[in-house]
Amino acid sequence: MKMAAQYSLIAISIIVGITGLPQFISSAPNLTNTTKESITPLTKLKVVTSVAPITNIVKNVGGDKIEIIPIIPEGSDSHTFEMVPSDAIKMNDANLIIIDGLNLEGSMEKVATETKNKNPNLKLLKLGDNTITKDQWLFDFSFPKEKGDPNPHLWLNVAYAIKFANLTRDKLIEMDPNNANYYSSNADRYVSLLKRLDQGITQAVKTIPEQNRKLLTYHDSWAYFAPRYGMVVIGAVQPADFGEPSPQDIARLIDQIRSVKVPAIFGSEVYPNKVMDQIGREGKVTFVQTLSDDALPGQPTDTNHTYVGMMIEDMKNMIIPLGGNIDSFKDVNPQNTYGK
Ligand SMILES: [Zn+2]
Repeated sequence: MKMAAQYSLIAISIIVGITGLPQFISSAPNLTNTTKESITPLTKLKVVTSVAPITNIVKNVGGDKIEIIPIIPEGSDSHTFEMVPSDAIKMNDANLIIIDGLNLEGSMEKVATETKNKNPNLKLLKLGDNTITKDQWLFDFSFPKEKGDPNPHLWLNVAYAIKFANLTRDKLIEMDPNNANYYSSNADRYVSLLKRLDQGITQAVKTIPEQNRKLLTYHDSWAYFAPRYGMVVIGAVQPADFGEPSPQDIARLIDQIRSVKVPAIFGSEVYPNKVMDQIGREGKVTFVQTLSDDALPGQPTDTNHTYVGMMIEDMKNMIIPLGGNIDSFKDVNPQNTYGK
């Protein structure tokens, strides 16, 4: 049943190709007599992306020269996201799929790999897999070693987001060399903004009293952030199966909060916060509702509806309740930086 559905999806995309909808020529088959360099794409490179921070990083490098097709809607749970058939068609029609990998995207990663294996013109770039090596993988509360998949939230460490931007630049230049200068200068401009963001976070964390530089969150997404900026993740509430924590887990966390004396604990927009409310109340600490690991702030038209905007918003929500300040972000403009 599933196989039949997949074959018919490919059939649909082939028919679409024949009926003359624009295709990205340099990736089309049967062009063996033409060298890659001599081909000018008639349309923009079609790039499928997954979560919103990755979509925004890709946008800042590819700018107006690529067409981005995001698959995972903002505010949905990327870890348990299930694709619909039209998502598979979008992937098969794309030239390039850019995801985090490391099993962040679950079913999307699986379908992306299957689609790529059947379609030799399609390229797949897994940013996370290409940013860190296996010995840099982190396993922790919700991503225990026994389950085999490392914590996949690399982009909350801005040094890794810089690598994401550079990997995207290299892949776009490889696939669309005519726009190499455009992608390069976009990446330069964006990476210099990311470096300012990285320094801003380092400075801001230093304003938190040392004994408060601890994170207890609902969703376990700060594993790579913490060591970069001098914080410690003391726990995450969400179990490895993304279900609800047991009453024993909750009791243990309340004890832990009482003994380590953190001033605040943090929830996530995507997950229910009832449990965190209880832990906060019984542990007698401030419960901050929203830290976001993938939903961007505001509306799509807002200037801070960007990866950088999300990080600044998160730092406001994290650093101030822990006793620090965010003055170091005064000169970090969250707006997109890609050129026309
Ligand atoms: Zn997550």
